[in-house]
Amino acid sequence: MNPEGKVKSDRRRSLPSVDRLINEINGLRPDLPVWARTSGARQALSEARKRIVRDDEDGEAGRDAALVERGAALAAELARAHPGRVINATGIVLHTNLGRAPLAPGAARAVEAAARGYTDLELDLASGERGQRTSAVAEKLRLLSGAADALAVNNNAAAVWLVLSTFAAGREVVVSRGELVEIGGSFRVPEIMRSAGVRLVEVGTTNRTHPRDYEAAIGPETGLLLKVHRSNFSQSGFVREVSLSELAAIGAARGLPVVEDLGSGTLVDLTARGLPAEAYAPARLRQGADVVCFSGDKLVGGPQAGLILVADAEHAAAMRSNPLARALRLDKLALAALDWTLAAHLDGRAERDVPVLRQLLASPEVLEQRARALAARIGAGASTAEVSVASDRTFAGGGSLPGFELPSWVVCVRPPGGASRCAAALRRADPPVLARVRDDAVVLDPRTLEPEDEAFVEAALKACLD
Ligand SMILES: *Cc1c(COP(=O)(O)O)cnc(C)c1O
Repeated sequence: MNPEGKVKSDRRRSLPSVDRLINEINGLRPDLPVWARTSGARQALSEARKRIVRDDEDGEAGRDAALVERGAALAAELARAHPGRVINATGIVLHTNLGRAPLAPGAARAVEAAARGYTDLELDLASGERGQRTSAVAEKLRLLSGAADALAVNNNAAAVWLVLSTFAAGREVVVSRGELVEIGGSFRVPEIMRSAGVRLVEVGTTNRTHPRDYEAAIGPETGLLLKVHRSNFSQSGFVREVSLSELAAIGAARGLPVVEDLGSGTLVDLTARGLPAEAYAPARLRQGADVVCFSGDKLVGGPQAGLILVADAEHAAAMRSNPLARALRLDKLALAALDWTLAAHLDGRAERDVPVLRQLLASPEVLEQRARALAARIGAGASTAEVSVASDRTFAGGGSLPGFELPSWVVCVRPPGGASRCAAALRRADPPVLARVRDDAVVLDPRTLEPEDEAFVEAALKACLD
């Protein structure tokens, strides 16, 4: 062995044993579970060994005290429940990293009830015979939308996949080049098509697609015409898009189903409240789409789900008998939350009781009042920071309502130690508080704060400013 290798192996041998390290972590954090302390100790030692092999110096990190601290930190991270609750002070209602739509308290109670006992998930109580797990949500979706039938699957990506695979496997699907979009890292229209076994036929250009482009691309191999909503960007300038009703006319003339991946749709018409008309999913059927797909945890404000509305009941039957439908099905917890959320829509109380809608529709006047009250309380508790209130704009987020700005009011906190450090401390609070950082200020938007969250925000800020 060369001398350097010998020195390194000696240094590795000087590291404490796993048992000793576990013991010391036990002393520091007796509150953590045994499995986490053991695993934290092993990971910390393995990191230290790797560092010795890699570096000439093992430095501070190899010392016992640093190892114990690192092991305890790893153990604490392992023991933390995940996903855990966080407070969203970003003002972004559908924040993908924060799990998109928060459920209404009533929907959460429905989940708990379904989770804690047996349910009639697949039982028809009247006859005692086998029942359909999604028949209740399908019925509610029909009543809300006027669709001939409806399906609910695991998410919208699954919904699009199921539609493509059922109606166009081995055939061609025509899409505008302006709509070959990526929604988050893993959902890209060309890739989902490939995985569903359909052949993509691109028409038009990035900025302009005409009805004649679709006409020319239709042939004996065409399975369906697909329109994909540009969920996370908008185009302006020299742009021509074929509208859904134009596409529906082409589909009807050629006997081809027209499918729209709407991405984020509402089940209540909020056009009068300022939302774009195209966001109202039932209206898309009326404009001639045969199938419309959208997420349950975007503008519907329910659990993760993919909702499929169809104009012809046979289309729903075909999708239900797709052998892979079972692999995409919703579990009883999501179904319970979805059922409650749809009932709230039917009752006419979605705008009040569904958090996503309440937050999106919050009036700037109310937000200003809440921002001023929160700023006053923060200012009174924290003498070291400069606290102000400003008007601002935010977005719905989560791949919905692109280019649609929501006028907001925010609290800006300028801590003496810098905004990034304060924001990092807020993320370590319990529960963690997520805020935006801009122009060296921590920016807190009351839009996404429930009233009971505000006391936590104040306390977390006070701790990081002291
Ligand atoms: C969000 C979105 C999807 C993916 O939906 P998930 O529910 O996240 O699977 C697909 N298409 C469009 C247009 C979207 O906006």
